[in-house]
Amino acid sequence: MKEQDCHSRNIPLPIQREIRQRCGFGCVICGMPLYEYEHMEEWAKVKRHVADEITLLCDQHHREKTAGLLPKEVMRGANADPYNLREGVSKPYNLHFSGKTAEIEIGGNSFTCEDKGYGTVLVPISVDGGPLLGLIMADGHLLLNLVIYDEFNAQVLQIKNNQLFYSTEPWDIQLIGTKLTVREAHRKILIEIDFQPPHKVVINRGRFLRNGVEILVRPKNILITNTRSVIAGNHAHNCFGGLIIGHHENQISGILVLDGIPRYLGDRTEALKFERETMAEINDPKKKDPTDF
Ligand SMILES: [Zn+2]
Repeated sequence: MKEQDCHSRNIPLPIQREIRQRCGFGCVICGMPLYEYEHMEEWAKVKRHVADEITLLCDQHHREKTAGLLPKEVMRGANADPYNLREGVSKPYNLHFSGKTAEIEIGGNSFTCEDKGYGTVLVPISVDGGPLLGLIMADGHLLLNLVIYDEFNAQVLQIKNNQLFYSTEPWDIQLIGTKLTVREAHRKILIEIDFQPPHKVVINRGRFLRNGVEILVRPKNILITNTRSVIAGNHAHNCFGGLIIGHHENQISGILVLDGIPRYLGDRTEALKFERETMAEINDPKKKDPTDF
């Protein structure tokens, strides 16, 4: 089996990850987040997978290489100085969202809205006056906005009016099919987003951080660890806000509006315990004796 593996064209996953990191999670020439793994030497010659011998090329640049229009020296030069690492941020990628209705599903909670024709806005998550997740609908345009920060309040990923770009700092970023995954450490997911254009976005896993507020998204619920609030099973239609946390200049209504909550002081262990208990009850209401208050 081992022998065969060496001759397989499939690049082992840890080597793929190493290549992604080295190349700044994008085509080394143009930064595009949709790419292929390309052996710089012909596969037929080398028949081995060594991270340093493989680079990332988008579809266009891969075709240019195959056609002989992209000189090897240019590719090697870009491999040594990848576009995204040079810029410190990835090349913007345009998501194709449009339409007059929209749906955001986050932690099993669903937000739907219709374009009312005057610039409808939907904000499922906002902290301290800044939306972390939001939609703007205007004239048939559906503009997705998302900002992901790390624990140090530094921006990791941003989608600004459908333009996706990310920092090259995180441990791993992958866009496979419609699914974007950002990992902050081995196996530790910072966010997982499934884009379902033209008008739906699903977030099943995520860790939204901002100014000491931590919001954890799981497939069936959302947990705000600072206040031990579990939000599950909501469906909001044409409702402007979802989780509105902290001070907002203009008062916003939402499913949950929390001002003056503790920052960095939330007891994470207690919150996680509370979430487990709450979700066990929601998933199995019979477990709870009705006479037991
Ligand atoms: Zn390219």
